[in-house]
Amino acid sequence: MSDTWNIYTEWNPWHGCKKVSQGCQFCYVYRQDEMYGSDIASSEVRKTLAFNLPIKHKRDRNFKIPSGKVVFTCFTSEFLLEDADPWRPEAWQMIKERSDLWFYFFTKRIHRFNDVKPADWGDGYPNVLIGCTVENQAMADYRLPIFRQLPIKHKSIIASPLLEHIEISQYLDNTIEEVAAGGESGVGARPCHYDWVLSLRHQCVEKEIPFRFHQTGAYFVKDGRTFRVMRKHQLSQAHKANIDYRIGRYFVPETASYQWPDDTYHS
Ligand code: SF4
Repeated sequence: MSDTWNIYTEWNPWHGCKKVSQGCQFCYVYRQDEMYGSDIASSEVRKTLAFNLPIKHKRDRNFKIPSGKVVFTCFTSEFLLEDADPWRPEAWQMIKERSDLWFYFFTKRIHRFNDVKPADWGDGYPNVLIGCTVENQAMADYRLPIFRQLPIKHKSIIASPLLEHIEISQYLDNTIEEVAAGGESGVGARPCHYDWVLSLRHQCVEKEIPFRFHQTGAYFVKDGRTFRVMRKHQLSQAHKANIDYRIGRYFVPETASYQWPDDTYHS
């Protein structure tokens, strides 16, 4: 397991975000800021000291982020956020320069993508994975038709926090490399029903799209009973359900497993 986690790292070039849809109600960025007693509002977006992290070097002149990592990008904000428009071109430049890394971001603002992609994007940078988040049917019906049309080489659908039963079959084609489903965490979290998760899985299996049940969330409803699941067990409980489909390795994106030689992501 430690080897597997070792392929991941984070890059948070800016911090803070503005809520945009129902899935944002209990945004973990806001929760974390509150927990740490931040005196800056979470909606106030600012560049972080880690802005240049992908191109920073260590004393021995190697990059601080070694080759082959999956870099979770902008997980304390959102990469396509309006407030970050002045900073994003430089971020794209770093992403392009570090073609030896995978950059993976999730977004609820896929409708902005065409307006803010880099001029030389073409049919997509090969090292960028984008997860389009859909928490309910309304957002699936709004975001996924847009997502479907975009030139992005690695696409996933993030059905999290899953707030209701959703039908996405009509948006699943072989450009979608993975659908991940998960419940909501934190105080006041809305419950996630196992039936909704199983339905998504069924829709994926029918189209032969990889499916991952990522986490249960804090309140998980199964067979009519609501279970309170501690944060530390939410991932492992989902994994125990053993319903992932065509996911080769635990928490390794399928893109990574077929694009890289084994020794790259096991180091
Ligand atoms: S878009 Fe994401 S980071 Fe921004 S407020 Fe919503 S949940 Fe939080």
